[in-house]
Amino acid sequence: MFNFKAISHPTGNVIVLTGAGISAESGIPTFRGPEGYWTVGSHVYQPQELATWSMFQRNPEAIWAWYLYRHAVCNRAEPNKGHLALVDLERHFQDRFLLITQNVDGLHRRAGTSDDRLYEIHGNIRYMRCSKQCGAPLTSIPDELSDKARGEPLTSDEAAHLHCIQCGAWTRPHVLWFDEYYDEEHFRFHSSLERAAACSLLIIVGTSGATNLPMQIAITATRAGATLIDINPDENPFSELALQTKNGQHLAGNSSELLPLLVEKLAREVN
Ligand code: NAD
Ligand code: ZN
Repeated sequence: MFNFKAISHPTGNVIVLTGAGISAESGIPTFRGPEGYWTVGSHVYQPQELATWSMFQRNPEAIWAWYLYRHAVCNRAEPNKGHLALVDLERHFQDRFLLITQNVDGLHRRAGTSDDRLYEIHGNIRYMRCSKQCGAPLTSIPDELSDKARGEPLTSDEAAHLHCIQCGAWTRPHVLWFDEYYDEEHFRFHSSLERAAACSLLIIVGTSGATNLPMQIAITATRAGATLIDINPDENPFSELALQTKNGQHLAGNSSELLPLLVEKLAREVN
């Protein structure tokens, strides 16, 4: 079993960085799992090819159909014990706590994590914005578009709701695509790295390490002396890095089981 005893009470700030794995047990498929593929027309794509600005420019209807379906899946999903354990952790550490998530599913907010202690560094699938950046504000995806089935094409009615109220261009999902860059305004790029440089414990949950900012956060935090704990059933770049940090560990298992145990241990010590 795991050596929870070796995990010592953090004296400074705690950052939790989550990826698709924490929501897998809420029924939201990860990108690199078996349900990751997607068919558009006669081609089968990996999400890494679909979740791109260049694919959106070529075929906004197909990309919107895919996002409306994923939006419907996220809407139906409920936060699990892993999300709830992080609400508990925030309660104990208050302003010393920050949750950085790559997930666009909104489950951390719905579980009860405070908005001001949550950075959604890849956006949130419930919102859309103007694809021409005309300055129109972010808007929620209209309720009438929240029930799309897998593989169902976009209707002309739906398309009509997906145009900017200010300039008439297509709106786009408020997410960071694989061929786009992080920024501070939408994705808290600089703030994430600043906070990483000043944390003493970094807990990484359910992420494969294939995206850029999470890797930079982990390197920044560990170079500054933070302990790294990685929760993931599989080996990944963070599990190796964890072992190079003081008392760092790879907890190989599911986040809904391991996070409540870890949080209980950390919370017990802070009181
Ligand atoms: P990923 O799909 O690349 O990797 C998921 C990781 O979770 C894997 O390492 C896997 O071993 C691990 N995992 C699987 N089940 C787990 C469990 N029960 N407990 C703990 N870990 C588990 O996901 P990623 O690294 O987050 O990157 C994918 C990108 O796709 C991100 O940009 C993210 O925004 C996006 N995405 C988001 C969602 C979501 O919002 N829920 C879902 C799919 C993809
Ligand atoms: Zn516009």
